[in-house]
Amino acid sequence: MIKKILVAREGKTFYIKDTSKDYHCQFGLIKAKDLKKKDGSIIKTNTKKELIIFTPSFIDSYKRIKRAPQIITRKDAAMIIAETGINKDSKVVDAGAGSGALACFLANICKEVVSYDIRDDFINIVKKNKEFLNLKNLKIKKKNVYEGIDEKNIDLITLDLPEPWKAIEPAKKSLKTGGFLVSYSPTIPQVIDFVNSVNKEKGLIHIKTIELIQREWEIDGRKVRPKTTQTVHTGFLSFIRRI
Ligand code: SAH
Repeated sequence: MIKKILVAREGKTFYIKDTSKDYHCQFGLIKAKDLKKKDGSIIKTNTKKELIIFTPSFIDSYKRIKRAPQIITRKDAAMIIAETGINKDSKVVDAGAGSGALACFLANICKEVVSYDIRDDFINIVKKNKEFLNLKNLKIKKKNVYEGIDEKNIDLITLDLPEPWKAIEPAKKSLKTGGFLVSYSPTIPQVIDFVNSVNKEKGLIHIKTIELIQREWEIDGRKVRPKTTQTVHTGFLSFIRRI
């Protein structure tokens, strides 16, 4: 768990896990006793560089989680929350867990998240991330989601799988009426097969499939323009509702 953050004026950030030891960074040494100072304090390194200290919020720690497979980005995760309205009362099932990036992001605001994966190596990464973020309401399950979902009366099921259409039947049985199924896929052939399979199912309606393009801008005096290199495409989100 990250205990404290040190920020330099030019934006450079340092993450401190152990406040009982002196900390070394590119600006020099910070004494352990200074790491105990209250949030907002200015701390000087031995080279007289000034840094501001404060306690991290969820998002500061979240940005430092371990990543193994491709994760769902925050812009896509945020849209899942915006479209489904899930909150502190919601029960969520997520598959596959991967690094647990989406599962952790949702667990931060939901009542309970159960995340499925079939690979031990990824499950171990999710367990580490869960502990790192101190998320008590995230359960990790080793199970092939195509073979069934144990939880019932679920508000939201999120899928990030190579063959999401194979999870439609289990998802339908596990969602409550009015609950949402959201599938994230990086490629269009996956979207085609998923949505066409959904459309054959009574009790499920395809609301929409979207792609979120986010362009970050550089602002430096009058040099104002989109950053020249950035990730544009991440994936497609298909929103389905159980009726
Ligand atoms: N959404 C995740 C990334 C998922 S990567 C994140 O944000 O971190 C896709 C994951 O699906 C992989 O870890 C893979 O092992 C898992 N997976 C593939 N098939 C599966 C299945 N049938 N049941 C459960 N998990 C599966």
